[in-house]
Amino acid sequence: MTFVILQPCCNDASCADVCPVDCIHPTPDEPGYMQAEMLHIDPGSCIDCGACVDECPVDAIRADHELTAEQSRYLHLNATYFEERHDPADNHRRRAEGRRETNAPDVRIAIVGTGPAAFYAASELAGVRGIEVEMYDRLVTPYGLVRAGVAPDHPETKIIAELFRAAAGRNSVRVHLGVEIGTDLSHEDLLAHHDAVIYATGASDDRRLGIDGEDLPGSHAANEFVAWYNGHPDYAAKTFDLSCDRAVVIGNGNVALDLARILTASPDDLARTDIADHALIALRASAVREVVVVGRRGPAQTKFTTPELAALVDAPHIDLVVQGISKSRSSLEWDAVDPVQAAKMDLIYEIASRSPTDTGGAHRRIVLRFCASPISIEGDRSVSAIELADNSLSCDSDGHVRADPSGSTVTVPTGLVLRSVGYRGHRIPGVPFDDERGVVPNIDGRVIDTSGCVVPGVYVVGWIKRGPTGVIGTNKKCAIDTVENLLSDIRNGRLSIGSHGSDDVDSLVRSRVPDALSFPDWTSIDRAETDAGSSVGRPRVKMVSSQQMRSPVDYKSDPAD
Ligand code: NAP
Repeated sequence: MTFVILQPCCNDASCADVCPVDCIHPTPDEPGYMQAEMLHIDPGSCIDCGACVDECPVDAIRADHELTAEQSRYLHLNATYFEERHDPADNHRRRAEGRRETNAPDVRIAIVGTGPAAFYAASELAGVRGIEVEMYDRLVTPYGLVRAGVAPDHPETKIIAELFRAAAGRNSVRVHLGVEIGTDLSHEDLLAHHDAVIYATGASDDRRLGIDGEDLPGSHAANEFVAWYNGHPDYAAKTFDLSCDRAVVIGNGNVALDLARILTASPDDLARTDIADHALIALRASAVREVVVVGRRGPAQTKFTTPELAALVDAPHIDLVVQGISKSRSSLEWDAVDPVQAAKMDLIYEIASRSPTDTGGAHRRIVLRFCASPISIEGDRSVSAIELADNSLSCDSDGHVRADPSGSTVTVPTGLVLRSVGYRGHRIPGVPFDDERGVVPNIDGRVIDTSGCVVPGVYVVGWIKRGPTGVIGTNKKCAIDTVENLLSDIRNGRLSIGSHGSDDVDSLVRSRVPDALSFPDWTSIDRAETDAGSSVGRPRVKMVSSQQMRSPVDYKSDPAD
């Protein structure tokens, strides 16, 4: 018997840490970890001890005999990883490394953000004697993309919030919700009241296509649609015209697949999730029956991961179609393709070779259209069509596969275009910013200024540090790396510790944001949401109004809470 890692894998490698035979890879200290789609168990080495199952924070590991028919593809996916890549000689890695000794004097550290990167950093710091952590979030709800980004039909992924809740419950961690840095408190305020500041603000801005018609009503950034269906307060009042029968999604990443899946999902299935009520109502009335997902390059260059594609293949009510590639693979697509990418291509070509009727009466359709770029969005008062240019692929001398227009174009009628071409970070007033990359410039998490000098006491973790790549657990290693540098700076006297005096952070926050919420306040909101959900068979019914959440009397069942 072997254990198998499945789609919800969060990559945080807690499982690898406890595996006694080192059969889970890649580990955070191996090349390729930061780019890994998921972790894998080597069936040749697994000793069925189950330690990984107990440790997995998202319940993503099953014994091979427990797999459903759909899950059985993961047996192959786990095993494939080890065919070429993993060298058993790498197996000896540090294991019983105890907790680091810092000898930190009383140190107060601010973390801006409460998403995965922020909480992984807080968890690391909370274990160091002498350090207290103050976390700030502009929203009144914590957990960043776990709440506002992860698709509602991926409840397993959200279980990671339990880990973060435990960190927030530590004596040395305090959470201030509804406090915006740059508006309510400045960067300078944080530096004056803390010994160091870690920014974990993510990448909330969208990237643009730069084509005509992009600002027409009916053309939106993916992050707006994602935030809307997830009940982000800033997007709850937004409306999307779902009266057309075809939507077009530009981009070939996991967000593009999330959009296609949600737009084609059965409303009755969505009604069992924590999707925002306003989105559920709109999706019930939606006329969208086809979503075209447009990738400018080919299957081998897709950014979406195999598990996310497999979820679409296995969806019973979706007719999945591939367009824009020949049924036989070109040598270009095969060159330099690793085994994991090859498994994804197998799946894509398997779909391409199927006839659409194979799915038997599917009533919604997702078209994966490869080798096409948007050149303009058309319409008078709102979107009526998108013009796509067919591309041919070629390989640069450095191995990069590029897409160039082949000369032919096609006009695809649609009333809804969602561009899902990646995110970028938002500039934080007073903090250096690399406008081109959309990140805070840094060396291994230490922020640097325009002349390349380290800005003492200012650090970054997560997407604002490295750009929008990786899955939730990827942020663990990213956060640990930064925290190690911060602790080393404390040990080596590079920070002026104690300069904040004994100023009370609570008084500062209260004076600027009298209705800021604490973590216990959030716990009441959490309970109210889950209580409302349990009475209707849903994980929770989300509140979407910050004003309502700032008025505990509106939702606290017990005023003594
Ligand atoms: P992404 O993975 O970077 O994908 C962006 C896509 O946009 C790429 O296919 C890219 O194509 C394409 N693109 C960029 N500029 C374009 C243009 N001008 N015209 C046409 N296409 C263009 O970004 P993402 O989907 O936003 O995901 C962000 C991160 O979140 C990823 O790490 C992702 O894995 C993660 N995420 C994970 C999950 C999950 O695990 N379930 C769910 C959602 C998001 P090129 O390759 O040709 O540039």
